[in-house]
Amino acid sequence: MNLILLGPPASGKGTQSNLLLKNFDFIHFSTGEIIRKNINNQTEFGIKFKKIVNSGKLVPDSLIIDIVKNYLKNDLDKNIIFDGFPRTLKQAKFLDDFLIKNNQKIDIVINFELSYNILLKRALSRMICQKCGSLYNSITNKPKVAKICDFDKCKIVVRNDDDEKKIALRLKEYNNLTVPLIKYYEDKKILYKINSNNNHLDVFNKIKGIINDNN
Ligand code: ADP
Repeated sequence: MNLILLGPPASGKGTQSNLLLKNFDFIHFSTGEIIRKNINNQTEFGIKFKKIVNSGKLVPDSLIIDIVKNYLKNDLDKNIIFDGFPRTLKQAKFLDDFLIKNNQKIDIVINFELSYNILLKRALSRMICQKCGSLYNSITNKPKVAKICDFDKCKIVVRNDDDEKKIALRLKEYNNLTVPLIKYYEDKKILYKINSNNNHLDVFNKIKGIINDNN
């Protein structure tokens, strides 16, 4: 089973991915995470990405599609959570073709809906482990030791693109380029809308129900 998590920045895609990984047999595919790793490791891709990501813009489709082909080629027989990909119609059409060629398809698309105020509050209190990418929140999910990751003891930081101005820019990109995907998947009758203003465990229970109904 392949699942897409669709939603604005800080809508809970990463948190729900972690819960899904703990409860089901999925692998996690996050283009944001791959991009951040490339930036941290200063790879050729990473150098190109840094400026774009820090400006709140989306990375060009051609670059993202190359990454997806490269990273996914050996994992297509697994159950995949697509987190933050696709984000444009071009990416969505590419993914459909790519999966069909490999006898796979997208089964479920979850669209996270939440108010701007909650989204902003979550983004501004979000922290991430620089090394393993584990997510924390300075209000609801603090690490055991301040600024240190519970899992690998590395430093946790606020993401460079998580300030109010950049979040507004990312949201603009989301509205212009990603929102059209809602209709794209609605037409395919695989879209499920979830109210993500609620507590993360309530959201997770809804997702669990959708997965079980589709099994
Ligand atoms: P969030 O969902 O909180 O915005 P992500 O970690 O998914 O965060 O993405 C961070 C940034 O990485 C995006 O703002 C964008 O610049 C880039 N990015 C991630 N995924 C894609 C994608 N599929 N297409 C283009 N750019 C992407």
